[in-house]
Amino acid sequence: MADAQLKYVEYAVTLEEVPTEISLTISISNCRFRCHGCHSAYLQQDVGKPLLLDLMTLLRRYEG
Ligand code: SF4
Repeated sequence: MADAQLKYVEYAVTLEEVPTEISLTISISNCRFRCHGCHSAYLQQDVGKPLLLDLMTLLRRYEG
């Protein structure tokens, strides 16, 4: 049976275009789209940490 947990591999602040606001990009793994020329092939693997365990910590770390 497949692991149904949503997992993430990494995160980064990617945009700071609006003063005092940021965009936090979270790279979710186990992608099923299999796009030709995938820019992040490692995200097609079932790797990373469970997102829901860390999500609030990440959001609080960057809240304004
Ligand atoms: S580019 Fe890669 S990671 Fe992005 S949706 Fe397509 S297969 Fe998934």
